[in-house]
Amino acid sequence: LQDRLGGILNNLTGRGALSENDVAAALREVRRALLEADVALEVVRSFTERVREQAVGATIVKSVRPGQMVVKIVHDELVALLGSDQVAIDLNAPAPVTIMMVGLQGSGKTTTSAKLAKRLSEKQRRKVLMASLDTRRPAAQQQLRILGEQVSVATLPIIAGQGPTEIASRAAQAAKLGGYDVLILDTAGRTHIDEPLMAEMAEIKARSAPHEILLVADSLTGQDAVNLARSFDERVGISGIVLTRIDGDGRGGAALSMRAVTGKPIKLIGTGEKMDALEDFFPARIADRILGMGDIVSLVERAAETIDAEKAAAMAKKMQSGKFDLNDLAAQIGQMQKMGGMGGLMGLMPGMAKMKDQISAAGLDDKLLKRQLAIISSMTAAERANPDILKHSRKKRIAAGSGTDAADINKLLKMHRQMADMMKSMAGKGGKGGGMMQKL
Ligand code: GDP
Ligand code: MG
Repeated sequence: LQDRLGGILNNLTGRGALSENDVAAALREVRRALLEADVALEVVRSFTERVREQAVGATIVKSVRPGQMVVKIVHDELVALLGSDQVAIDLNAPAPVTIMMVGLQGSGKTTTSAKLAKRLSEKQRRKVLMASLDTRRPAAQQQLRILGEQVSVATLPIIAGQGPTEIASRAAQAAKLGGYDVLILDTAGRTHIDEPLMAEMAEIKARSAPHEILLVADSLTGQDAVNLARSFDERVGISGIVLTRIDGDGRGGAALSMRAVTGKPIKLIGTGEKMDALEDFFPARIADRILGMGDIVSLVERAAETIDAEKAAAMAKKMQSGKFDLNDLAAQIGQMQKMGGMGGLMGLMPGMAKMKDQISAAGLDDKLLKRQLAIISSMTAAERANPDILKHSRKKRIAAGSGTDAADINKLLKMHRQMADMMKSMAGKGGKGGGMMQKL
């Protein structure tokens, strides 16, 4: 319980600039979160280094703890790195605009081709033609044809015996003659990156001069993401990334890794097997997912919003003078409720989500906060200002008024006493204000 209150006090008093120690401690957490999110090691290293440089010495927003401040910087950095603006598929070129899909086998190229075709034809009213250049897998061309029928998009007639580049040329011609706006080329993948695959992609590119080359990658790709993105980008040259299976249990780390090594935007995300499960990419959402440690950022933001700076200053002054009555305690509890109560707070803190059940089992939940506020509001002004006068009969009256019992009231009074003592002892030590408070 004291830890909990200590945390709230910290919230009220954190200010000044971030020290190297603050940053180092917070970055350890961040590093772990990034690795857990499957961000490639080399990207984690360069990223945390950049954050360190930026964070040390940064001014701490009032009422936010240093660790949270670092996380906020990390989050903003993540969003910046992931591309703060959404980048759409670029159709600004003479028709037919060719879009080439590349990637490993099973990454979702064929599915994404059809999803994209559906989106472009239905939402953007483009006349779309799709062609499968996958002569490797026996039924690959039929797979695209069937999907094309499903989404009512034309596919290039299949002619047996043609190789990928021949099909590419035929597709370009058919698109031109047929008056298509967009041509989507679905290609063959391999289970891993190899030279024949890269050579084939480079040749198709040379033959069909695509305006967009989209690397389709599974969001579950872990440490390989860097190698994958780098190879395709260096050898073929990509214009954007599509991240598929974001609906799976991928943590989004691949997005960061691939973006970091190529600098190319993530343009779309695949969110399921259905044909309309294709969405625009929002960097902030993925950044949250990567941080995956509960939504620390919104805690920081909420704290900044709800804790009125003046109130905080007045409170700090009161604490330093060693005076802290039940009115102040009620204000603190109210503050906690505003921030989403215990449940909200716990969910927002790293590693705390798991403890939530234990906490509610122990009765330290929102009901407790409500009960505490009920008790305080059933007291008279004199009682709140001077809890020492609370003897048996007064407690009985308060218990009846707040629907609690004497034990609840005693617990609350004990908590208040502990906090008041803590503050007195701090004030006794010379009350260095913010700095002292943070050590609570
Ligand atoms: P390709 O080998 O790269 O052409 O991959 P496919 O397009 O054939 O996709 C392989 C499998 O992944 C298929 O079963 C798809 O339904 C599935 N798939 C593709 N994209 C997604 C996605 O975003 N979410 C989910 N859950 N499955 C997907
Ligand atoms: Mg395919």
